Amino acid sequence: MSTEKYKLIKKANRLLVKHFGIPPRNKKLPNPVDMLIGTILSQNTNDKNSYQAYKNLREKYKSWEEILTARRTTIESVIKVAGLGKQKSEAIKSFVKELNDKKGKLSLSHLKKMDENSAIEELTNYKGVGVKTASCVLLFALDRNVCPVDTHVHRTVNRIGIVKQQNTPDKTFFALNEGFPPKIAHQFHTNLIRLGREICKPKKPSCSICPLLKICNFEDKNLEKMAPSRQNAFMLLDNIS
Ligand code: SF4
Repeated sequence: MSTEKYKLIKKANRLLVKHFGIPPRNKKLPNPVDMLIGTILSQNTNDKNSYQAYKNLREKYKSWEEILTARRTTIESVIKVAGLGKQKSEAIKSFVKELNDKKGKLSLSHLKKMDENSAIEELTNYKGVGVKTASCVLLFALDRNVCPVDTHVHRTVNRIGIVKQQNTPDKTFFALNEGFPPKIAHQFHTNLIRLGREICKPKKPSCSICPLLKICNFEDKNLEKMAPSRQNAFMLLDNIS
């Protein structure tokens, strides 16, 4: 990573922490399998609905082993509040089965001994597990200094100019995480999601009230006076247990 990029991340992080504060985290690291299933549920929906789907799943199945024999259609109906029930139930069932076949148990504890790149490579070999899901497991369940890239992080870091015009979240992930500054991945990731939800929105960013206005390189800034829009700051992946 260039020194310029490294400094820009540190500077943006300082400004975001000043504006939003240091985001709270789970005191105890969750189980990586729980986290992976929670992340599958979180795709294309809001945190409130995916959290409800996760709770429904935990209530219905006392252990993930029960998923091995559960009917996929039943899983689909249990998680339907999160949307994309068919796709998500298939991904969960296939991940649990594949993990059990490969390791003989439903555990990802072997990842603790692996470096970040190897762990991401291993996880993305499971059907239905992409780079974002794998990186969320690393950050939220293994406490690695890895910054996952969802649609908000992708949009904001490209606009700010931290990465240069990467056209997919996965490309942005690899460009952003190469030599990422130590210890700040969780706060940077979480605060960028808030920035993307509340200020740096897809269609009309509220640049006039943005804490990053002075350092942002986006050419089409919208400097109209805008009112702050505070969204629910609940983050699913900090509440998986
Ligand atoms: S200045 Fe505007 S474009 Fe840049 S990060 Fe802030 S809201 Fe987004």
